[in-house]
Amino acid sequence: MEYISTRENYRSVSSAEAISLGMVPAGGLFVPEKIPELNLDQILAKRDANYQELASWVFDKFLTDFSKKEIKEAVEAAYKEESFPPAAKTPLVKLNSNTFILELWHGPTAAFKDMALQILPQLLVRSVKKLGVKKEIVILVATSGDTGKAALEGFKDVEGVKIIVFYPETGVSRVQEDQMKTTGGSNTEVVSLKGNFDDCQTAVKNIFADQDFKKKLEANNYQFSSANSINWGRLLPQIVYYFKAYFDLLNKTEIKAGEEINIAVPTGNFGNILAAYYAYRMGLPVNKFICASNDNKVLTDFLETGLYDTEREFKKTISPSMDILISSNLERFLFEITGHDSDRINQWYQKLQQENKFEIDRETLSAIKDLFVGQYSTEDEARKTIRNVFQKFNYLIDPHTAVGINSLVKYRSQSADQKNAVVDSTASPYKFSRAVLESLKEKDIVKDEYRIIEELEQLTSTKIHRGLEGLETMEIKHQQNCKKDEVKAKIAEILNI
Ligand SMILES: *Cc1c(COP(=O)(O)O)cnc(C)c1O
Repeated sequence: MEYISTRENYRSVSSAEAISLGMVPAGGLFVPEKIPELNLDQILAKRDANYQELASWVFDKFLTDFSKKEIKEAVEAAYKEESFPPAAKTPLVKLNSNTFILELWHGPTAAFKDMALQILPQLLVRSVKKLGVKKEIVILVATSGDTGKAALEGFKDVEGVKIIVFYPETGVSRVQEDQMKTTGGSNTEVVSLKGNFDDCQTAVKNIFADQDFKKKLEANNYQFSSANSINWGRLLPQIVYYFKAYFDLLNKTEIKAGEEINIAVPTGNFGNILAAYYAYRMGLPVNKFICASNDNKVLTDFLETGLYDTEREFKKTISPSMDILISSNLERFLFEITGHDSDRINQWYQKLQQENKFEIDRETLSAIKDLFVGQYSTEDEARKTIRNVFQKFNYLIDPHTAVGINSLVKYRSQSADQKNAVVDSTASPYKFSRAVLESLKEKDIVKDEYRIIEELEQLTSTKIHRGLEGLETMEIKHQQNCKKDEVKAKIAEILNI
């Protein structure tokens, strides 16, 4: 299968090329030229497969330039027991008669990004090898917290790769910073930058665009690549768990074969919900997708009116991984829903670049509304949801998951649709323990994040995620820092070029 650009501005490429390039060099995103379609019998034949088997089955259909053996090895390396201890990998927890929570945070770093970032390095090194590249790959990451640690854990000790992560000195929590600074591995580097997340991201983007520096790297046998969330190799692995969740419902006789379900996803870059849509296009029986946002509700407004408008105040919320105004993966979705109309995609994204907004036509909006519902939660609603879910079900959730559940509840109260629904749980509650404890106690709490984690455990008897346990006393392995105009020099120093 070939991959094409959403803007029709690049030749079609193999999946290995799409994965190693990350994004289309001229702007735009790679998508499969045709989504594999399956009938219900073909899907149901997989109902008893384990997670690794399901992953191989999905990957085989999309990565046709990979051998079955290559895919199996990549999958086994990524989803081993040590990295994802539960046998199910993504356990499905029943909250009430028609609400099921899909726990996506059992990987090493306690957030759902592990589901893709544990396998992306496996796919990337195999892609690069397939393309005959003999250079050492340097992965550059700018992070506001979760992605940095997940990428470090995924690329740690992967042969032929070096990873350098930049994070804003004042922009991440103490726990997030410690998670990164204690990372082992002989190929990992972590640098704190004097500035905010935008400074980090801009610095890294400038490096990618710097042709002279690129030449210098090549002369020293290095090549840059990115673990960015718009890489097809990060989207594809997320399709798998929607099939897994469906089969779990089926095998627990919560649904009948072929019965449609609803899926609610707390959304930032539109990647996780897009993966659910790809599963649907492959044949998974889905009725509605509930796209859940926080106060940065660009997507909620877009799904209501058809106007995508980023000209608004950026709000910092207790669900920071969804504090996003430009959802990159929406471009892929619009390309799919318009039947691959790259002319319209070019128009809209040119407008977005020039005027910070664009409006889609009525026809497209109505096609989207047949499938997607936008909902959002205020800060207060998210906190109340954390409290209510704990009091009622003795089940602890993080603020992102709370936004997902609350959005589903709102959708149900506004429609007659009470179908069984799967809600993505995207982080362990301990990853965002301050907001969780504040929500439960409704009064001032201690400042030290590690004391908060302990108190949360005492109060709720919920086990601490192993990725955060003992972190406070772990050895700090990285202490580098730099100013925002020193990023290039820092990289050159690290690579010794
Ligand atoms: C990244 C992230 C999200 C948003 O996922 P997208 O694929 O960007 O929509 C939601 N919750 C958590 C905890 C995340 O880390």
